[in-house]
Amino acid sequence: MKLRDGHIHSPYCPHGSKDSFTRYIERAIELGYDEISFMEHAPLPKSFTDPTPDKDSGMKMDHLEQYFYDLSDLKKAYKKDLAIQTGLEVDFIKGFETETASFLTEYGKELDDSILSVHFLLKDGIYDCMDFSHQVFKRMITRYGSSDSIHEAYYQTVLDSIMADLGSFKPKRIGHITLARKFQLKYPFAKSHSHLIDAILKAVQETGSELDYNGAGAVKPYCREVYPSEDIVAKAVHMGIPLVYGSDAHQADDLNQGREQLILPSDLS
Ligand SMILES: [Zn+2]
Ligand SMILES: [Zn+2]
Repeated sequence: MKLRDGHIHSPYCPHGSKDSFTRYIERAIELGYDEISFMEHAPLPKSFTDPTPDKDSGMKMDHLEQYFYDLSDLKKAYKKDLAIQTGLEVDFIKGFETETASFLTEYGKELDDSILSVHFLLKDGIYDCMDFSHQVFKRMITRYGSSDSIHEAYYQTVLDSIMADLGSFKPKRIGHITLARKFQLKYPFAKSHSHLIDAILKAVQETGSELDYNGAGAVKPYCREVYPSEDIVAKAVHMGIPLVYGSDAHQADDLNQGREQLILPSDLS
């Protein structure tokens, strides 16, 4: 079986490590990977104000061309040992669909692979970076009313992202659909939200999309679970939805994280 990691960050990530591309690549080769996708956070829409303190959720627009150049060189250099895909993790931000679509129209042709993710939620005109920290999540609980309300808003936004018209270069893969559970051990939720999760899976299936099977949650101290969780993965597999493992590594040492928690189709019969 081909070993693939479809979600890796890079030295261009302003909130990640400065580990070089080569460190990630050499480590992936060591671990036996056949194919990896670099998925840097795409530059955020110009008119969007990043709510994080350092405004560092996305890569700098000025670095984008160099990111593509670097990857095209590395692809050639490592051709024999590893298939390297050029990708971007593109944010879906409610209210910024038009800007996101025009970004994709301009740069989509540079991409071999891409992910559409929700990190920002909108309520009463205010955007929060939902997964930034447990402190932010706590403040959000005050505004949203409960942890469950945040989960509901997250799933609804993911559903909107799948249905959104972002043009012909819209990413096919949907990022970490249960990211709202990142702080579940500190701020537990009570409801299953299965109606929304089922709607997400149906939309993924009908649009021919894929799911990011993301290992990062497994090592987060208040999560300890991959995104999405086992019950959801089982449903997705039965629906014929493709899942692609992603370490979501922000440093070379994070490669392979969460892999031991994945369930494979053979576990589900
Ligand atoms: Zn990141
Ligand atoms: Zn993400």
